[in-house]
This record gives sequence, C-alpha cells and structure tokens, in this order.
Amino acid sequence: MESDYIIEDTDIRRLIVKAVEARDMAYARYSQFKVGAALLAGRENSSYADEVVGRETDSRDRNVNEYRVFTGCNIENSSYGATICAERAAVCNAVSSGYKDFKAIAIVGGLNSTGINGITYPCGICRQVLSEFSADMYVIAARSEDDYDMRRLSEFLPASFGAGQME
Ligand SMILES: [Zn+2]
Repeated sequence: MESDYIIEDTDIRRLIVKAVEARDMAYARYSQFKVGAALLAGRENSSYADEVVGRETDSRDRNVNEYRVFTGCNIENSSYGATICAERAAVCNAVSSGYKDFKAIAIVGGLNSTGINGITYPCGICRQVLSEFSADMYVIAARSEDDYDMRRLSEFLPASFGAGQME
C-alpha cells in the first residue's frame, strides 16, 4: 500500500522513548542483548473505537483514522531458534489487535552491561516480516532521541520477495 505519510519529529521522539521503555521488558537471558521496539500502526475505521487509545494522529491519511503504538521486546528461549525479536513481537501485538497499516518502527538495543551505546538495526527476518505489511514504512534505528538512522524499509530491504509474487 503506497502511503504519503510523512513522519513528524515529535512522533520519532515518542517512538524512540517507547522503544527504550519496551527494552526494559526484554527477556535476554542468553545473549544479554536487550532490544526494544515501538511500532506506529493504524487500522481502518471499525466498530471497536472504544478500545482505541490514539485517534487521528495523522489526519492527512484518509484511509486510516485510528493509530496506536505497539511495543515489543526480544524474548529468548533455551531452544535458541524459538527466540523472537523485539520488532516481530511488536508486529504480533499490532496485527493481533487489527492494526496492519504500519507507519514507522523505532528500535533500540544494547548489552545489559553497556546499555544502549550504539545503533541496532533490524535483522533480515524482521525486515521481511515488516515488509509484508508496509514496504515503505520508516525504520528508525536509534541510539537516543537525538541520534538515529532513519530510512524507508524499502532501502533496508531492496529487491524483496513480497505478496505480489504470490498472486
Ligand atoms: Zn529480528
């Protein structure tokens, strides 16, 4: 879905703050590398409006009028392959609530011992999962509210396999 959504600086900062908060919840027992993600996602108007926290943060997009921020953290497992990344945990939260129009995701990460001292980019699997829903969404890989690398997902995952191939 092509979007003309342009993210605002206040939303970037809000997402980074929420990603930092989500990182505190990380279950990183094995790697000690804790990651948090905050996903701004919208859904089309529905009859469940009373459950919605945020409304029309972007009134320029007429197709979607309800937005929320969904967070996620990495959840490791003693069977390492069962581990899920923070970004995909956030996606699961959003899609499970009916929010599939992704606008932006902020990601922060770092070892327990160092805290968030560098930029953490989404892994290949997460890039693929995000692209299923919004290939041109913003990806904000952040060290702090003032220090981040923000690009479109299509730049992080060029020439990708997508739903178009399955039609
Ligand atoms: Zn990942």
